[in-house]
Amino acid sequence: TLSVRGLTKRFGGLTAVKNLSFELHPGEILGLIGPNGSGKSTAMKSVMGIERPTAGEVLFEGENVAGLPAHKIARKGFGMVFQHSRPLNRQTVLENIMVALLPDSLFMLFPDKALTERAKWIAERVGLGAVMDRRPPTLPFADLRRLELAKAIARDPKVVLVDEPFAGLTSAEVGTFSALIRSFRDEGRAVMLVDHNVKSVAALVDRVLAMYLGEEITTGRAEDVMKNETVRRVYLGGA
Ligand code: ATP
Ligand code: MG
Repeated sequence: TLSVRGLTKRFGGLTAVKNLSFELHPGEILGLIGPNGSGKSTAMKSVMGIERPTAGEVLFEGENVAGLPAHKIARKGFGMVFQHSRPLNRQTVLENIMVALLPDSLFMLFPDKALTERAKWIAERVGLGAVMDRRPPTLPFADLRRLELAKAIARDPKVVLVDEPFAGLTSAEVGTFSALIRSFRDEGRAVMLVDHNVKSVAALVDRVLAMYLGEEITTGRAEDVMKNETVRRVYLGGA
């Protein structure tokens, strides 16, 4: 179980995430919902160590990992799908996955059969089997997002943080991505899923935490969160 307590991130005078607390259990999907600028990505990046939290604890398996560098947090069993893809454009899809598998290795000099096989398996799993030898700039958008999913789960993480996986996808692709995210949960991983909209993830998530301007508004089942007055006003109303 991941326990986040009092997580706060300030950028100069702006408090992007304010005193956020939540628990994330193995085998569940927690939706982190909020309009633009709510602090969703900043919260995720602060958990992951991409941003250094200003305050708060990120307790995982009895240890406070807050403030550790991202590569150390990743090694503890965290994977993240970034909102904006940033693949290695000169490497193939397969090589991108291999780099995610063993970021510190010199596998390009000493290609390892087991590593290659594992990378291929991950590529197949996320639907990149047919494009493993292509380079990212030649891929359609949805495949770039698949590659982000592949990189996030490459090292078999216990916690998977997924930032806006559905943005820019067709409804068919949203269905495929939802099924993949559900399968991560069903393997016993703890999944956190960021989206703008409660409605679009209601069928997928087990629980929702709604944010606005860096703070939690409410948390609970999606159907209850959708009924919350403040959520209705700031998400659905004219705010
Ligand atoms: P979106 O739905 O647009 O992705 P979000 O909920 O992910 O939004 P964040 O990207 O976390 O929101 O941003 C929260 C606030 O923090 C915003 O006001 C943003 O401008 C600010 N912010 C984010 N990153 C930085 C940074 N590196 N430096 C300064 N301000 C930042
Ligand atoms: Mg964001």
